[in-house]
Amino acid sequence: MNPLLTSFDTAPFSKISNEHFKPAFLEAIEDARKDIDAIAKSKSEPDFENTIEALDFAGRQLDRISSVFFNLNAAETNEEIQKIAQEISPVLSEFSNDVTLNQDLFHRVKQVYENRSGLDLDPEQLTLLEKKYKNFSRNGANLPVKGKEQLRKIDKELAMLKLKFGENVLAETNRYEMHLTREEDLEGLPDAQIEAAAALARERGKEGWIITLHFPSYIPFMKYAKNRSLRKELSLAYGSKGFHGDELDNQKNVLRIAQLRFERAQLLGYDSHAHFVLEERMADTPEKVYEFLSELLEKAKPAAKKEFEELQEFARDLDGVEQLQKWDAAYYSEKLKQELFDLDDELLKPYFPLESVVTGVFKVAEMLFGLRFQEVHDIDTYHEEVRTFKVYNEQNEFISLFYADFHPRSGKRGGAWMTSYKSQYILNGDNIRPHISNVCNFTRPTNSQPSLLTFNEVKTLFHEFGHALHGMLANTTYPSLSGTSVYWDFVELPSQIMENWCYEREALELFAKHYETGELIPMELVQKLKASATFQEGMATMRQLSFGLLDMAWHGGDPSSISNIKTYESEAFEPTRLYPETSETCMSTSFSHIFQGGYSSGYYSYKWAEVLDADAFAYFKDKGIFNKQVANKFKEHILSKGGTEKPMVLYKRFRGSEPKIDALLERAGLIKKAS
Ligand SMILES: [Zn+2]
Repeated sequence: MNPLLTSFDTAPFSKISNEHFKPAFLEAIEDARKDIDAIAKSKSEPDFENTIEALDFAGRQLDRISSVFFNLNAAETNEEIQKIAQEISPVLSEFSNDVTLNQDLFHRVKQVYENRSGLDLDPEQLTLLEKKYKNFSRNGANLPVKGKEQLRKIDKELAMLKLKFGENVLAETNRYEMHLTREEDLEGLPDAQIEAAAALARERGKEGWIITLHFPSYIPFMKYAKNRSLRKELSLAYGSKGFHGDELDNQKNVLRIAQLRFERAQLLGYDSHAHFVLEERMADTPEKVYEFLSELLEKAKPAAKKEFEELQEFARDLDGVEQLQKWDAAYYSEKLKQELFDLDDELLKPYFPLESVVTGVFKVAEMLFGLRFQEVHDIDTYHEEVRTFKVYNEQNEFISLFYADFHPRSGKRGGAWMTSYKSQYILNGDNIRPHISNVCNFTRPTNSQPSLLTFNEVKTLFHEFGHALHGMLANTTYPSLSGTSVYWDFVELPSQIMENWCYEREALELFAKHYETGELIPMELVQKLKASATFQEGMATMRQLSFGLLDMAWHGGDPSSISNIKTYESEAFEPTRLYPETSETCMSTSFSHIFQGGYSSGYYSYKWAEVLDADAFAYFKDKGIFNKQVANKFKEHILSKGGTEKPMVLYKRFRGSEPKIDALLERAGLIKKAS
């Protein structure tokens, strides 16, 4: 018997071998297809239960197999698993296309949707109904045959262009190298960086050192290399990717992608691509995004200008630099930061042994939400390093299973993330509890030292744990609305808010103790941490705003009159400009976030999420960071509610009003706290 096709509760990792996946996928897809067909071809009058609810519960086994498989592919993969992923991904997208293109199914969904006012549905049911309906309509289900054909054509061309855009950026990144042969050109670089550059040169059969546009090589060079003209050369190379007028040029691709997105939106009845995207965001409309960005701009600009002048002054005093350029930014900022704060990771790490930080984050969750974490050893895992915890609430009810996988391995991708093996939902009166996982890449213990975290890693742990809480505390009826299934400019609220506790004395006292002496982290260090966290916040904000504004410039209107993308981009950058313009560079031609990835009309959401978490945490700060009532409200209205209602509605229920940007500006030191 294929273990993936049994009705397992916890994922049966030790029983699964790679050859189980494909047949399990194919059989589960067939079953899901039958579920869908039964709904689409049903003879009974469509209603909420037999159509919308049935649709949401269709294919549960397929979801579980998918989560086991794709989580493994991220956390413990190998060539075989990667090969299966390549084979199975197109089959899965074909299946989901078949569902959204199923006209019989859509007619039934539409019928329920159009009768919704007479159905006496609760808010969660209404949300589910709207979500299901939009899933069809936003993919063209309401269009006449010709329109549908046009949409498919646009989608096909867009998919191809996005791929091409990304390939060009990658090829541009890979084809450039800066070959250095004089030792003095490396002045300022850390030893590890010099060694890596030498190793790369050897690998390429060259003498000396090679610097590339890949982050691990590019960033340290811009930060530490003393030679200004080399920094300029590297910076211009980085900034001109896809802008050389050759076979890797992306200018036409940018224009065409923007144009096609606009046409697609128009075809579906929206004013612009941004209108289309923002319909399913907390920000709601382009007007709201513009308003948000300009308010932030107005408030951050004076601080940014002041910081820029300070940096200019610093560079002049140090090296006689008369006009700061973009290629000076990272270098002098790093120097100034060292001078001001003198904060070293090595100084902090002894206070953050992994084991204590984990205990600390559990303790914070207990004090806020009454959760108790009990480590268990009888749950099947995919690797011996994965730890498992049963999570109970104050009434001692089991609320979730929690997997924690902390250290890097060769089969694990980089970064840190939260995921789930089983989502929460209520079926036939049973509240099915979720299985949540955090996967990280924290430094391993050595023979002489436990795993000691950098402060950034501590924040990462709290961040991912915040996502995990969103999953663990979920309490909704429908699986597709549960946990982190929320609008994506809302999903970072539970995670980012948790990072705030890392800066608070009351929280640090719970866990930040020296691994040898047990001494509490000196508060002077904590003060420095806080101060350094807001270093050059004004300039950083301007940078984020410039990207957000450029994104909206490309997607907020009709792009057909744009002829020169460099000129167009320069205009969009004008309000946020601090450094002199360079004619050699263009941001749009390598802006992969919006032209290749999923961030089009969404770049603002980085700042948006910060506003939310700062505003929400200000409530805690005001009432006490472990205040039970505030924590309860956060649990009741945010963490347990998933995507059952619009995020603004949920947020207002928690906070009593819409989020204001003041708390962020205060935290960032951009305005003084009103007394
Ligand atoms: Zn996150």
